[in-house]
Amino acid sequence: MTAEKPQSATEAAPEAGAGRAAVTRRSMLKTAGFAALAFGAATAGGNSAFAASSAGSTEEGGSFDAIVIGAGYAGVTAARELRAQGLRPLILEARDRLGGRVWTDTFAGEQIELGGAWVSERHALVEKELKRYNIGTVNDPSAEVSIGPTLTGYRNFTPAEAGARQGALLSKLFAGAEQVFERPYEPLYRKDLVTPLDRISLRDRINELKLSAEDEMWISGEAATYSGGNSSLGAYTHMAQWWALSGAKPEGWFGLIGRRPATGMTGLLKAILADAGADLRLNSPVAAISDDGRRVRVTTRAGKTFSAPVAVVAVPVNMWKTIAFTPGLPAVHAAATAQGVGIMSSKKFWMRVRGDFGRISASTPEGNLISSLHSRTQFANGEQLMIGFSENPNLDITNRAQVQQAIRQIVPSLTVLDIKGQDWGNDKWSGGSWGFRKPGQLLAQYPAIQQPFGRLSFATDDIANGWSGGFIDGAIESGLRAAQQAVKSV
Ligand SMILES: Cc1cc2nc3c(=O)[nH]c(=O)nc-3n(C[C@H](O)[C@H](O)[C@H](O)COP(=O)(O)OP(=O)(O)OC[C@H]3O[C@@H](n4cnc5c(N)ncnc54)[C@H](O)[C@@H]3O)c2cc1C
Repeated sequence: MTAEKPQSATEAAPEAGAGRAAVTRRSMLKTAGFAALAFGAATAGGNSAFAASSAGSTEEGGSFDAIVIGAGYAGVTAARELRAQGLRPLILEARDRLGGRVWTDTFAGEQIELGGAWVSERHALVEKELKRYNIGTVNDPSAEVSIGPTLTGYRNFTPAEAGARQGALLSKLFAGAEQVFERPYEPLYRKDLVTPLDRISLRDRINELKLSAEDEMWISGEAATYSGGNSSLGAYTHMAQWWALSGAKPEGWFGLIGRRPATGMTGLLKAILADAGADLRLNSPVAAISDDGRRVRVTTRAGKTFSAPVAVVAVPVNMWKTIAFTPGLPAVHAAATAQGVGIMSSKKFWMRVRGDFGRISASTPEGNLISSLHSRTQFANGEQLMIGFSENPNLDITNRAQVQQAIRQIVPSLTVLDIKGQDWGNDKWSGGSWGFRKPGQLLAQYPAIQQPFGRLSFATDDIANGWSGGFIDGAIESGLRAAQQAVKSV
């Protein structure tokens, strides 16, 4: 298997070559995506024909006390908890690395995060893990200048002005969220209040507010970002619950960004893994899982079968449809994976840039090619390390010229020298980026989606109660629960 590589574009690369590389990669992704879709269509909800044929050609991989599929935060946490209960876990991971949607790497001589990066004191489970492993945190330096949209383009604001304006708009958008999510870790505690709201999208609610055109520009970008580039795709209740979890105050909300584990996100994960005493097999994508009521048999795409009394399925919801389950998944799980929870368009990219504009933080309205920019490090030679996010399918982060052109609409003097990033929407093993529910999914899925199915339990932040979708805290929560469920079935 070829090693997974982030996408990159450098100033030195001739544009035509970079363009060709991008096209090749895009076509490869398209082919891989098509294959996964075709496979998924055949297997969603279980395809015993496939399971039987793969079982017929398998080689015995061994038997274990428990099998965990997926080595992201959810799976590794579940493995550690299983071990704590005296079970010897096997972890089967498709990629050639740990971490899934977190991926600590280096670029321009700095530690970077291609996926999940920031932790907050509001993430109680993450805080507990940081303390347990004695891992400190570092804060990204604050912006000196905020750039925000106007009716004619962009302009500079002080961070205090921009924070006050956006904070006031968010408070309006989520007014009453603290009652709807009175117990924010129990999303259905006030089902009566959640029910009428769960069917509406973030766009529906923004429209109801009848904001001025400019105010709308200040809030639509944030809503569209989390929804995957289009605020009508994302459930109002999902972001409202995050708002309630943040203390229903702008300070709590803005505090979700900027603090990171000193070891990087993968460093904390490695510490958890060390306590799992697990047999970790990388490059081992799982093709089929069958449960005969006594044991679970897990078959990799290479045709090796492992067995155990229980298994934890710790892959993203969007990936369930690529695995042949026998018996087929319950209706709620099958519907969730068919609809998807992980957003389908999302790129995070790091840039080495040049230009005299200080430390900036920029936000754009819905529909822009770039959704936000954040200065991270200022180098002595005047260059900067900067983070960009885009949920627009039309941005190709391997095309430096296109990225630069898009950024110059916001910061005219900026020159992009080098890019390293990840297109999570097209990631083969996530099948999407962070989770963000669509309208109606909270009521349709919870709590059934968190329940074990025979000898299988499910872990991924996409189905957490608290910080679900977009936060490792939710992944840890789901891993803890799935391990407890698995132990009961042994
Ligand atoms: C761009 C981006 C920014 C984010 N920012 C933040 C942030 O700042 N703070 C924060 O807390 N969170 C953030 N998140 C969210 C965070 O990264 C996720 O919540 C978390 O990593 C999800 O963990 P998980 O274990 O549920 O899933 P994953 O991390 O996706 O792990 C699932 C694992 O299953 C594997 N897998 C898939 N299919 C198979 C198969 N068939 N067989 C075997 N293995 C398989 C995958 O390779 C993967 O390793 C961000 C996410 C993204 C994408």
